[in-house]
Amino acid sequence: MKTIKVNEIDRIFEESGIPHVHLGFYPTPFHKLNRLSRKYGVNIYFKREDLSGPSNFGGNKIRKCEYLLGDALKNGVDYVLTEGGYQSNSAMELAASCRIVGITPELFLYDVLLQGDVTEYRGNLMLDQIMGVKVHYIPRSADEPNDGIEFHGKIHKAMHDRKAELEAQGHKVLIVPAGCACEADFVSHVHNFKEIMLQSERLGFIPDYIYNTTGTGGTLPGLMAGKLMTGAATKIRRISIQTYNPGDMVDYDVIVNRVKHVFNELKLEAPADDVIKAELDVDQGWIGPDYGIPYEESTAAIKEVASCDGIFLDPVYTGKGFAGVLSHIHSGKIPQGSNVVFVHTGGTGALFAERKMVGALQMQ
Ligand SMILES: *Cc1c(COP(=O)(O)O)cnc(C)c1O
Repeated sequence: MKTIKVNEIDRIFEESGIPHVHLGFYPTPFHKLNRLSRKYGVNIYFKREDLSGPSNFGGNKIRKCEYLLGDALKNGVDYVLTEGGYQSNSAMELAASCRIVGITPELFLYDVLLQGDVTEYRGNLMLDQIMGVKVHYIPRSADEPNDGIEFHGKIHKAMHDRKAELEAQGHKVLIVPAGCACEADFVSHVHNFKEIMLQSERLGFIPDYIYNTTGTGGTLPGLMAGKLMTGAATKIRRISIQTYNPGDMVDYDVIVNRVKHVFNELKLEAPADDVIKAELDVDQGWIGPDYGIPYEESTAAIKEVASCDGIFLDPVYTGKGFAGVLSHIHSGKIPQGSNVVFVHTGGTGALFAERKMVGALQMQ
């Protein structure tokens, strides 16, 4: 397969004519965590997608929204509906992005953690309130699994009913899946990969590993495609925070197809399926009791990064992702002296969420 240079990526995007709108501040910062690196004998760098802007609570969804909403605007969309848990970062970031471009967002948020009636608006839910976003609450009973088909059917029905209602009033409505994981934006994190490679080159090294905390698997395809199209030696590793089995929403085949989609969008020849599949390095050992539930190592990872280098990870994603990185350092899966980049994907709004979510972070 013919490879391209990292500095050709911008031109290839321009030539592809993919619709895009500016929302965040790019490139996001990139820097070394000096004390943690010294402590573990590994060079640990953070790619600060949490500082993407445009608000104080950025994250990896803003890059996605630049393409997702670029496409929506081109199609004349004036309402966006999306789903997520009560503390969804994705829903909050999409809502903020919609506010910037003048599209009206509505959120369908479900009770992942079985909290019952919402009596307090904390964390991202409070940010949604501050933006004046309409939220539809979808309750769940203890006998309904939160990843069950029946339950998802209930959420989708609520969104489709609302879509029909808005369309009857003459609106053009777009339904965005959980995590903003949609075809229009899988290309976005090729830019993230590009920035990491250019920023590390400027600091005089090539990353051995890039670690990404994966949920709906919308960030990973861009990172992987970037690696594959440039032929970089850097390995992309994924720590999952959601159970993931063959046949699930984000199984291997789904990711392979998304990577191929990125190549097609950029009018580049895609690698063979098995070449893409060989790049999938997944660790599912850090999910903990369930999505959104903290555990000892995830809490410890958040406290360690904050107390060593003054950076806050989040309880739902990056705390678990970094717990995975620390375990790979301890086990030697990350050898001493390696150059490791951890993508801080954001989510810090959830640090101010309810007790069930932040767990023992409040205690010394
Ligand atoms: C959504 C999210 C992720 C996961 O990204 P995907 O594209 O869904 O895999 C990771 N970290 C944070 C903070 C997120 O909000």
